[in-house]
Amino acid sequence: MQVLFATSEAAPLVKTGGLADVSGALPAALRREGVDVRILLPGYPAVLRHLGGQPIVLAEFDVPMLGRAALLEGAMPDGVPLYVIARDDLYARDGGPYQRADGADWPDNDRRFGLLSRVAAMLSQESSPIAWRPDVLHCNDWQTGLAPLFLQLDGTRHAPTLFTIHNLAYQGIFPADSLPRTGLPWDVFRMEGVEFFGNISFLKGGLQTADRITTVSPNYAREIQHEPLGFGLQGLLSWRAKDLTGILNGIDLATWDPGTDPLIPRRYGVDSLLRKDANRSALREVMGLQAVKGVPVAGLVTRFAHQKGLDLLLACVEQALTLPMQFAILGSGEPTLEHAFRDLAARHPGRIGVRIGFDEALSHLVEAGADLFVMPSRFEPCGLNQMYSQRYGTPVVAHATGGLSDSIVDATPEAVAAGEGTGFLFHEPTPPALLAALGRAAAAFGDRRAWRRIQRSGMARDFSWDAAARRYASLYRAVTGTP
Ligand code: ADP
Repeated sequence: MQVLFATSEAAPLVKTGGLADVSGALPAALRREGVDVRILLPGYPAVLRHLGGQPIVLAEFDVPMLGRAALLEGAMPDGVPLYVIARDDLYARDGGPYQRADGADWPDNDRRFGLLSRVAAMLSQESSPIAWRPDVLHCNDWQTGLAPLFLQLDGTRHAPTLFTIHNLAYQGIFPADSLPRTGLPWDVFRMEGVEFFGNISFLKGGLQTADRITTVSPNYAREIQHEPLGFGLQGLLSWRAKDLTGILNGIDLATWDPGTDPLIPRRYGVDSLLRKDANRSALREVMGLQAVKGVPVAGLVTRFAHQKGLDLLLACVEQALTLPMQFAILGSGEPTLEHAFRDLAARHPGRIGVRIGFDEALSHLVEAGADLFVMPSRFEPCGLNQMYSQRYGTPVVAHATGGLSDSIVDATPEAVAAGEGTGFLFHEPTPPALLAALGRAAAAFGDRRAWRRIQRSGMARDFSWDAAARRYASLYRAVTGTP
């Protein structure tokens, strides 16, 4: 099985979000399953630097409406084969992959990702400019959304396509006059094509024409078929429901392992949970929290964004302090939320610690040192921290949405008795519901034996990429009709 994995970012070379983590980990896991996956990336400066001064030029070719491009060959740092589109006028610029340094979108993103989509399609056709042919083209998010559409329009023999949605909130919307710039004909500018409320949507192009669609958790696959999480595409997604599958992302088990983590003061495992206390002491010290016996520390590591439901926490955190409970909060993002959390910490010294910024090392200490972890997200396609937390013996209080529902088992008395409960879910995204779940967690924390069971059940769960890779591999077989 040969698969071309087309993506606009891949860790560790270029990362803005979860797509990069998946692109950095899933192909390697698939290769362990025996699938010959190769990554296709645009030639951003960081990618070209990684390839070195004299990269191998595999081919140079003309792309309809988009000019001449070269395809370079290399490998990701972990050895996964890599193809890179060299087009310095489109990709070799300072700033982010989608935005200038000042945060504004690059004005030619239609051409930049039109080219990525078009080259992905060309490499998946019989007329490909290179010898290696994929059996499946695996596209990711709107940046590659036009690839399945180009294949359908060309009508020549080509690989079947799988399209993965990492976050439906980002859709690649451009004005109608982008069409000729991307090389698409005007007759796709209709409701059944790429037209979306008078604009064009790259994402819609992919969702209309890919053979199969996946998203990053089974529950999110259901949620996006309805308002409000369908973001205007719920009709199309429910029409395609039989081709839509949710596959929960994995996590990097080597980086997130409490038994070997170099970023925490005391390493521990499922049979040495008492050692976690030393990490709690270190976290309290860093966050300026009082050392009080029997009071659990609730941790958060998050982008400060509406999606993450932090306003729900702000509305009930002062009541939560009386449970009693302390808070250790690490995050950055929207300035109003940053202010609100700074103020909160100033009003409750010793009980609420807040660190504004992006701090990888501190995020590990929060996972290891907190007693419980809080994720009040309004929506969460998959989410990572709830999986890290369970692995670190830090039960999660979370809104039952998206991948959070799929990866946390609510610790009802029955589930705890059965050794299955791993966290505390609440169903309405409201402050009282969050407060009630924090109350349940505080009560469970007071019951030493029950708490240990919950911790151990979480630590025993398999969140490996290998489990996810097996699911993708079986979809590749399904879409190619391979037994
Ligand atoms: P999203 O991609 O929507 O931000 P995820 O849960 O999928 O949410 O992934 C977020 C990742 O970024 C996690 O690994 C989390 O630990 C990390 N992260 C978020 N904010 C910070 C921060 N301020 N400092 C360190 N790591 C952070």
